[in-house]
Amino acid sequence: MKKTSSLPYPVIHCDLLIIGGGSAGAMAAIRAKEMNPKCNVVVFEKGDIKYSGCIARGMDALNIVAVPGVSTPELYLDATRMACEGIVDDPPSYMMAKRSWDLMKKLERWGVCFPVDDGGNYEILQVHPVGKFCLTMQEPELKTMLAARLAEMGVRVIGRTMALELLTTGGRISGAVGINVRSGEIIACAAKSVILSAGGTARFGLPNNGYLYGVYDYPGNTGDGYCLAYRAGAELSGFEYTLIYYIVKDINAPLLYITLTRGGKLLNAFGFDKSKEHPSIKSMLVDHHKEGSGPMRIILSHLPEERIRAIEEILFTTERPVQERFYKGRGVDFRSGEIELWPTECFLCGGHGLTGVRVNERAETAVPGLFAAGDTSLVARGHLSGAFVFGEIAAEEAVGYAERERMADIDHGAVEAVIAGRNDRLSRSGNRIPVEEFEYKVRRIINDYIVPPKNEYKLDRALWWMDRFRSELHDIVRIATVHDLFKAYEIENIIQCASMSAVASKTRRESRWGIWHYRTDYPERNDKDWMKHIVLTMGDEPRDIRVGERNIITMQIAKEQT
Ligand SMILES: Cc1cc2nc3c(=O)[nH]c(=O)nc-3n(C[C@H](O)[C@H](O)[C@H](O)COP(=O)(O)OP(=O)(O)OC[C@H]3O[C@@H](n4cnc5c(N)ncnc54)[C@H](O)[C@@H]3O)c2cc1C
Repeated sequence: MKKTSSLPYPVIHCDLLIIGGGSAGAMAAIRAKEMNPKCNVVVFEKGDIKYSGCIARGMDALNIVAVPGVSTPELYLDATRMACEGIVDDPPSYMMAKRSWDLMKKLERWGVCFPVDDGGNYEILQVHPVGKFCLTMQEPELKTMLAARLAEMGVRVIGRTMALELLTTGGRISGAVGINVRSGEIIACAAKSVILSAGGTARFGLPNNGYLYGVYDYPGNTGDGYCLAYRAGAELSGFEYTLIYYIVKDINAPLLYITLTRGGKLLNAFGFDKSKEHPSIKSMLVDHHKEGSGPMRIILSHLPEERIRAIEEILFTTERPVQERFYKGRGVDFRSGEIELWPTECFLCGGHGLTGVRVNERAETAVPGLFAAGDTSLVARGHLSGAFVFGEIAAEEAVGYAERERMADIDHGAVEAVIAGRNDRLSRSGNRIPVEEFEYKVRRIINDYIVPPKNEYKLDRALWWMDRFRSELHDIVRIATVHDLFKAYEIENIIQCASMSAVASKTRRESRWGIWHYRTDYPERNDKDWMKHIVLTMGDEPRDIRVGERNIITMQIAKEQT
């Protein structure tokens, strides 16, 4: 990267900086250019924008679309309140559902395939407690399509660049500092507004396959968005919602909706058919853990050949093509064998869960000029629909903000502090513990003490360990290459997320969301005391996690119409 001044690092300027070029970030960049083609948009993307993010992990539906004549945004509010067990603010969810149909039609105009039957009807599946909102999509090229559009529109993507710190000036956002994950070079970006769309914390608990990267969600997401926002003064919520999925054992790849909604049978370990019980991941986990009736299995052998082929077609193209080799390797043919399911690792996520930077229906955070979208933000269980819609909303608001505000001077002292921190880390090539071994240990301890079932003693142990890990990361972990360096930054964020999760879990002295926040010392749900958000903000330093509470925001309009 070319230097533009006498400073020892390059500084670039833009109207809008987007951190993370996944589903939400790519959509935000496109929308910003639609709003104002002259808007100078830069994206910091940790990986390669053509393949990075959740989309490449397997995407077979827009999970929330209020299709006219089938369902309504008002009904969606009922569905999401049930799914979130009341811990959800109506306005962002309502806005997402309200814009979901137009969003889907827009994607369709771009060439994204949403299959229709002979009568021209979309395939809409019921996966929510009430209402049908899940619109199937068969588009293996979705991410490359978005990346191509973004390039055509003149968005400047700075790839292989991990955002390390947000910059603020006089309380408002003024840019960010990034590091090239291959060269270690630091880059500063002065921006009038910033959108955070860096996903959730996919690398949190250790998966049962033992591989650091063998997780369900995109493994490049290490809670960076949460930590960046927290250190810049934003509010976080939902860190006690420690999510575990229930899907294909070892590969941790999706398939439930694809098989069960197409006639697949779900059997528990005793051969009892659970398919008729409207199984959800939450209920399956209860069966697996509490009742001890797992592992569950999916059987497809009773289905006609063309149905099995249709399922394979989706799993081996739109989802992860590697699945075809996986099943072959295990000797599983859907015509005769069974697919064993198992709990995944524990992870934190706004799109699947309730963890994220608090935003309102305009994607605004508590920091002026800073917006958040996708799994980084708390648009409860919005999935891909939420990432796309809030990517658009964040862009509309951020472009407006950038048009109104002047470019603020960036704090060069803050950039220099990041550089000093990098140099200090790079001086630790003589330390004895490899970074991968250290990550393994951190995540094993997360499994031991934060993964439910939780109790006060375990959560205190988690906090003790995370404090110790902060020092050990500095004192004993070997940083001999740039690769080690950026892994160390990621692990630092995983440790911070674990501390925040332990604090939030300790605070919510009840059990809620099935196994996901199951406290053996407070085994009952207690709406009287805990029907509220637990909010985290930074005190004097990152480890000083301050806890507050916020009321649930409900909408009158929704009450009248449902
Ligand atoms: C396996 C799987 C299947 C799913 N299936 C469906 C489905 O069928 N339907 C549905 O509606 N939803 C589905 N979802 C959910 C949906 O995909 C996500 O909610 C959504 O894609 C999240 O978008 P995002 O932009 O927040 O995150 P991502 O798309 O993951 O993008 C985050 C981006 O940020 C980058 N990044 C991270 N940290 C930094 C940093 N510090 N600096 C710069 N860049 C950074 C990453 O490299 C990544 O590109 C699925 C999710 C998974 C994991």
